[in-house]
Amino acid sequence: MSSGTGENPAEQSWLIAANVVRWRRYGEGGQELRPGTKSYRGGSKVYVIESYAGSAHEHLTTIGRGRHTGTYITLDMATRNLHTFRAVPVHSPTVLRLCEEADVGGCWTTRADAEELAVRLEKLAVEYRTTDWATAHPVPCRCHECLTLSPV
Ligand SMILES: [Zn+2]
Repeated sequence: MSSGTGENPAEQSWLIAANVVRWRRYGEGGQELRPGTKSYRGGSKVYVIESYAGSAHEHLTTIGRGRHTGTYITLDMATRNLHTFRAVPVHSPTVLRLCEEADVGGCWTTRADAEELAVRLEKLAVEYRTTDWATAHPVPCRCHECLTLSPV
């Protein structure tokens, strides 16, 4: 049951949350569109627990509910398929356990660190969507940028 120490905000675990793009460009020149990713539904929330060491954060290790099973999985994925990175306190014992088991060099534990990296990842995700798909968008397009820019 309780560890007896009660709630200590300073010891809260902070991670970065992000959402999977509803549609991603796919195929030659990014002219096709696929909903979500192979393993995650579009729009679903994932926790970013680490980026590949030494990389430019092009890929991230995430924990989220799998498309098919609905249970939490740990998965490496392309940064460009995520958006709206933000720092969040994590309470789910399952997420925290997977985070520990992932052995990725530790989860971010302070709010300040998580917030700082979230800002950086948001910029990088936009950048990767642009540079990875430098070709013209399909018409019509439902990729994250086009959905964000189009009036609803
Ligand atoms: Zn587009």
